[in-house]
Amino acid sequence: MISTIAQQCTTDDAETFFDARRANDAIDICIDCQVMVQCRDLARAEGHLYGVWGGETPRARLDWLAEHHPDPEVRADAATEAARLERDRQRSSDANREARARKRAEKAGLPYTRPPAEPGSNVVAIPTIHQLRAQRLAQRARQLLRDGVDMDGIAEELGTTRRSVQRYLSDKYDNIPA
Ligand code: SF4
Repeated sequence: MISTIAQQCTTDDAETFFDARRANDAIDICIDCQVMVQCRDLARAEGHLYGVWGGETPRARLDWLAEHHPDPEVRADAATEAARLERDRQRSSDANREARARKRAEKAGLPYTRPPAEPGSNVVAIPTIHQLRAQRLAQRARQLLRDGVDMDGIAEELGTTRRSVQRYLSDKYDNIPA
């Protein structure tokens, strides 16, 4: 890949070096390469934004480029690409967390709806099973209150304490959709 130094990796599948899922395979190849350090330094000097070079992942190199490269354009491009990778990583991690939360809710026989993102944040809040259960109890407590049941009666019906009923009747669980 570094034609000006050596071509140790050109006999391997070049795609390996540009596929994030195979980054570890690429790094294994680089580790056996005699020009690993020179390759990494050249990739940094030339401002490569993509691919594994000299055993260094694009993410690690982007961080270095964004901070140390002498060309302000390369620094800006590296910072933009690093931010894009971080957004992708965050989206993928949110999706995994949501899938797990959905599975837990299904297993517990509870409803699950994706909650809205926090205002001003791109991080999605995922309710826990505890929150989902509490929300169900809060809905039930409000219904009993509307039906004219007193606090002691609601606590008995829900198998909990008056204090918990007070909490359920507050707005604490309003933001978790049923
Ligand atoms: S260090 Fe890796 S990317 Fe660089 S020439 Fe060697 S095998 Fe190719």
